[in-house]
Amino acid sequence: MWVLLLVAALTAAACGEEQFVGHPPSSPLQVDFWRGPTKPSHPTDLRVPFRNLQAVKSFLEANDVAYSVMIEDVQVSGMQTMALSRRLQRSTDTFDFASYHTIEEIYEWMEQLVAEHPSLVTRLQIGQSYEKRPLYVLKFSTGGSGRPAIWLDTGIHSREWITQATGVWTANQDPTVTAILDNMDIFFEIVTNPDGFAYTQTTNRMWRKTRSINAGSSCVGVDPNRNWDAGFGGPGSSSNPCSETYHGPYAHSESEVRSIVDFILRHGNVKAVISIHSYSQMLMYPYGYKAEPDELAAKAVRDLAAVHGTRYTYGSISDTIYPAAGTTVDWAYDNGVKYSYTFELRDTGRYGFLLPASHIVPTATETWPALLDIMEHVLRHPY
Ligand SMILES: [Zn+2]
Repeated sequence: MWVLLLVAALTAAACGEEQFVGHPPSSPLQVDFWRGPTKPSHPTDLRVPFRNLQAVKSFLEANDVAYSVMIEDVQVSGMQTMALSRRLQRSTDTFDFASYHTIEEIYEWMEQLVAEHPSLVTRLQIGQSYEKRPLYVLKFSTGGSGRPAIWLDTGIHSREWITQATGVWTANQDPTVTAILDNMDIFFEIVTNPDGFAYTQTTNRMWRKTRSINAGSSCVGVDPNRNWDAGFGGPGSSSNPCSETYHGPYAHSESEVRSIVDFILRHGNVKAVISIHSYSQMLMYPYGYKAEPDELAAKAVRDLAAVHGTRYTYGSISDTIYPAAGTTVDWAYDNGVKYSYTFELRDTGRYGFLLPASHIVPTATETWPALLDIMEHVLRHPY
């Protein structure tokens, strides 16, 4: 049994992740950071195994840190949202966008989307995962070659189910954006961490990392959003294979990451990288960005809020959330991609990663105008 705690004002200095994961080595507290640790005065969400709950509470009280219980039993809540749709889909018209789907159902849906739009959508395989699953990318294009391109990915952290579900809904809209597709191609990887995603559906709903074996450790997996060659190994990433933010043995060690790196570099004309995570309701861009992306982010979150009133914050990653070395968007920015954004979708912690399926369509619907704002801006200002 696990308990989710909302912890106020946890500072990295007072009790950062390493303190929970690594110390004392004889009795690690095995805390799973769902959100944070962020800046002082920002709340942090921690998943705590029940057997360590008293020790964690004592630790927080000793450090004068306030907390409250958000979810009493994460296991039970997790099982409730595990109810995946088992319905057979005959076409994208009857596909149930309001349910979470298995990896097989999503791959089958991709085939249908391609079959229904043969002149607009193709499915590429850019590599394979550690466990040898195909890494599929949907290409939306009205033709031509070497056109400027937009890259989108969802689900690089496998437990962030709202992202893959939003990805499916969004990819279903993509064939309609012909004004964009007449000038740019869109590449969309929906199941970016398929091994982790399959594992969340069969074994551990809370799995975040890849499933690669770590030499010399019994802990499995690398955080694929700390594995990029951009400040690799720096603040906000861990060298401990048991950590949820383990950066891996070296940059691009994970084939799920390496495949994207190779694809984007080989393409050579990717103008925007949009990497979609959950949760926290934020739109972020790399440190060092100046006024233009800021104005664009402001417009995007305004248009997102106009749909259902959902409020997002925006800003540079280091200002908005916490330093995180080795991320997708930093790598993209360092490698000449002009526009590089990270979304953190719903919610702000009420359900966290266990967002009920009833949120899928509203989340995807409100995110769509924000994505369109960015894509249309890239179309008008590609250089
Ligand atoms: Zn994430």
